[in-house]
Amino acid sequence: MSSHRPSEDQPARAHGFATRAIHAGQPADPTTGATIFPIYQTSTYTQTALGEHRGYEYSRSGNPTRAALETCLASLESARFGLAFASGLAAENTILSVLRPGDHIIADDDLYGGSYRLFERVYCPLGIEISYVPARDTDAYARAMTDHTKYIWVETPTNPLLTLVDLAAVAEVAHAGGAKLVVDNTFASPVIQRPLELGADVVFHSTTKYINGHSDVIGGALMTNDADLYERYRFHQNAAGGVPGAFDSWLVLRGVKTLAVRMRQHQENAMAVAQFLSEHPKVRAVYYPGLPSHPDHALAQRQMSGFGGMVSFDVKGGLTAVKRMVKRLRVFALAESLGGIESLCCHPATMTHASIPAQLREARGVTDSLLRLSVGIEEVNDLIADLRDALE
Ligand SMILES: *Cc1c(COP(=O)(O)O)cnc(C)c1O
Repeated sequence: MSSHRPSEDQPARAHGFATRAIHAGQPADPTTGATIFPIYQTSTYTQTALGEHRGYEYSRSGNPTRAALETCLASLESARFGLAFASGLAAENTILSVLRPGDHIIADDDLYGGSYRLFERVYCPLGIEISYVPARDTDAYARAMTDHTKYIWVETPTNPLLTLVDLAAVAEVAHAGGAKLVVDNTFASPVIQRPLELGADVVFHSTTKYINGHSDVIGGALMTNDADLYERYRFHQNAAGGVPGAFDSWLVLRGVKTLAVRMRQHQENAMAVAQFLSEHPKVRAVYYPGLPSHPDHALAQRQMSGFGGMVSFDVKGGLTAVKRMVKRLRVFALAESLGGIESLCCHPATMTHASIPAQLREARGVTDSLLRLSVGIEEVNDLIADLRDALE
């Protein structure tokens, strides 16, 4: 494997988050002084002599633009190591690649549909065992531990019900049984939640969402402080090859520069939308960790420094009412995905969570009348007016 530049040789943690988002891993180009890190759109690197090169041989093994992104994201998650991937699921696949038949995972039962499909359709048939437990029930994780448990795998806030997992408590459960805690931090973003600081061992992202933030790239990344796991993941990244291209890496680097300022606006808008919905007579329930009525509000205040931009709500009148409402939206686009500057509305039952069997889905609260909003950074008055008109 190439001696690709380790993502650890980087800047002083002394700088604040927003500063690191703009500068970490991206010194001015030494040959030209280019202030913005270049796109190294090359597959190969000319070597100076047999066995002599400048740290790069072939872009699956290492690419400078990708390395800059890996260093920057590691810095934002308070990690020593970072690896970038072609998608969030490719990052997940690399994390799972170190498991062997008979190994056991405990996961929360409100996972992103694609993660559930990867577990059930790819890893279960290979002999990996998986137990699902209610996300907020810390004791249930402890009860589910076996001698073979290698990972506790959680998403917090969960998708789409925005339930929280107590990361510090679940990290203790994992470590007491010799397992590692893996956290999908896609919904929160490292601006408001840094799982490694709370005891998690591995954190990953679909960078497609808040990290890139402009709905124009599919990407993923994982970050860890565990040198042994990092080496095994890095081996798999190169050996299985799920790497992002230089241009996509550059787009994500560009996007993440504004993460802190975008997130502030997402949260401000989301809070206003959640308050509006919670007072609306046609809305049965609103799920937003920033509302004092949310069952995990106190935990959110403890382990996050904000409440994020995702709001889910249950509409009265079932599927018929939902269909009518969605058709009337003008600013919110009906679309999967989240975390971009534009506002999106998703119907989990038929869209993101369609791969979960209906009965299981309903039992977990993902009803036919549930809608999930990714609240964008447009004028908040336009967003509220759009929802008000659609609910009429
Ligand atoms: C989108 C998403 C993923 C998967 O990422 P891709 O980039 O689509 O592969 C995983 N987890 C969560 C929470 C997501 O929202």
